[in-house]
Amino acid sequence: MNSGIKTFLFLYFLISIFLFLGRSVYAQLPDPHDFCSHTKSIKSKQRQASFHYQEHDAFDVHFYYLNLWAETNDVFLKGFVEIQGSVQDDVLDTIYLELDYSLHIDSLLFNKKNISFTHSQNGILFFSPSQALIKDEPFIIRVYYQGMANNSGSGRGYNSEDSHHNTRVNWTLSEPFYSKDWWPCKQDLQDKADSVWIFISTSSKNKVGSNGLLTATIPLDHDKVRYEWKSHYPIDYYLISFSLAEYMEYSFFTPEQYGRKVWIQNYMYPDSAMYKSQKALIDCTKIEMNLLREKYGEYPFIEEKYGHCISRIGGGMEHQTMTTQANFSFHLSIHEMGHSWFGDQVTCATWNDIWLNEGFATYTQYLGLENMADKASADGFMAAMQSVVRREPDGSVFVPNDQLENRDRIFSGRLSYYKGAVIIHMIRYVLANDDLFFHVLQQYQSQYAYKTASAEDFKNVLEKLSGNNFEEFFNLWYYGEGFPIYYFEWEQAVNNSFSLKAQQESSTVKTPFFRMDYDIQLFFTDGSDTIFTMHQQEAEETLFLQLTKRVKAILPNPKSSNLMEVKGVYSGLSLPGVVSIEPNPAHDIVMLRFTNSNQQRKLSVFNSTLQKIAEKKAFNRFVELDIGNLPAGVFFILIDDGQSTVLKKLIKY
Ligand SMILES: [Zn+2]
Repeated sequence: MNSGIKTFLFLYFLISIFLFLGRSVYAQLPDPHDFCSHTKSIKSKQRQASFHYQEHDAFDVHFYYLNLWAETNDVFLKGFVEIQGSVQDDVLDTIYLELDYSLHIDSLLFNKKNISFTHSQNGILFFSPSQALIKDEPFIIRVYYQGMANNSGSGRGYNSEDSHHNTRVNWTLSEPFYSKDWWPCKQDLQDKADSVWIFISTSSKNKVGSNGLLTATIPLDHDKVRYEWKSHYPIDYYLISFSLAEYMEYSFFTPEQYGRKVWIQNYMYPDSAMYKSQKALIDCTKIEMNLLREKYGEYPFIEEKYGHCISRIGGGMEHQTMTTQANFSFHLSIHEMGHSWFGDQVTCATWNDIWLNEGFATYTQYLGLENMADKASADGFMAAMQSVVRREPDGSVFVPNDQLENRDRIFSGRLSYYKGAVIIHMIRYVLANDDLFFHVLQQYQSQYAYKTASAEDFKNVLEKLSGNNFEEFFNLWYYGEGFPIYYFEWEQAVNNSFSLKAQQESSTVKTPFFRMDYDIQLFFTDGSDTIFTMHQQEAEETLFLQLTKRVKAILPNPKSSNLMEVKGVYSGLSLPGVVSIEPNPAHDIVMLRFTNSNQQRKLSVFNSTLQKIAEKKAFNRFVELDIGNLPAGVFFILIDDGQSTVLKKLIKY
């Protein structure tokens, strides 16, 4: 990116963010509710019907064709869905689909012939062809159905609401398993259709936004119209979507100088006030698009478009090539756009690894700030996310198997989004090479393009390209729970030799120790500073540095590169001969270690209100103190060698 473009980006950023939001973008951490429709607080949305395609994955979907009538006054749908597929098993005698029971099936055609079927109350739809099918045999299913979609006002499935902008709006939200609430489908993440058509017929005053390209608008009798959207990219079931309202369109191409132009198509309410207030933010999406193409690789759906349909969705949803969004706020827009790569082009193979969608989309917000504002804004955002992660002592980014039907756990803002983004930043820190980091992201994208992937797949790409083993990293930070808690104690001798003791505890017994590297920033009395890396190989590490300047203060984890809690930073005064008190915190015996013996010293122990509670004389290099009978708390040890004194802090637990 040249500096002219950078200035341009920055200008855009200033206009769109600071003027419109009127505040620093990270002073308040955007709540995941603001950029994720799933965390909209709908309590305990457990999946109601369960069908495990992994155990019944007998056929492969090639093509979905939805042809439906819809109006904005309610959630009534009528029409058909065609599914073209082929058999995967050696023999297939029963085909299973899902469709909510509130929708009535008028008829089901199998290879163009009526066939009897069972539609059970738990939403499972199944039928047996008259003759069992054999491997690779193609087939066509067409389901004619109608009814009011049953969304219980929860925002899931198919929704209709007053937009509060002089129009009503209908939209769909199918992730993670609510496609079946509005159309018959195979809800299997690992079976992407190769292409999809979505034809919606409605009153001619309405516009319909959907996946792919609008290939035709066909006038129908009685002032109706049919919008024919087609996409020729592989697509997962939950990314198929449409929105319907009296939309106005504001669309454009990305600027040519960035390479191939990308069509960005926006459907908004016909509300000039909203358009005026959002225009700069909408324009900003072309800058975001080119930034993400530079970081993640070419836009995956460049032959079609990227777009937004405004609706009353809570936050946004990354429907492939046509995101459904509540507004164009910076964090929301760039998060959803990031999903075009992480979520849409490469989709998590199971909900266990939703990190591959949401962690990376949230990290896209970091990249947006880093590149369109500045590093300090991005690091502030990272620090804010880390503080949310630390609100609870445990929880893994990986979604455990027993939580796979719990939408709230899958889309946990703290774990899947924030901790997910934080550990991606930590991977970048471990690599310490941005070219390599983005190369890994791009390789992962190209290797799994239009397919699904697991976290292990990502890890394999990372390990192969970096040559590093990330087994322990993933076990600690992805599958593992919690975070390290640190106490630091530093001192500097008169000859400027500097020592730093770092003591690590864990927020949870589930992960007792986090082997990790992290940064320490030293600030000197002359106003300068430096950063060095601490290698925490054991719970307690002590680092010695021979410096030439006096240290004024230290700051652990200065750029929020790592997830850690710093509970204490203590500094000792310089006293020749005093080295350390170990362990600290301690429970019973502590050892004071001096660099020289044969020196008479007096040790006085004070409690936290500075009342002397013990005294001891010492001559040797090693002096043992028994603190077993002291209550838990903070104590101070005053060491007096007759010429000078030093006060050391001791924590008893
Ligand atoms: Zn997301």
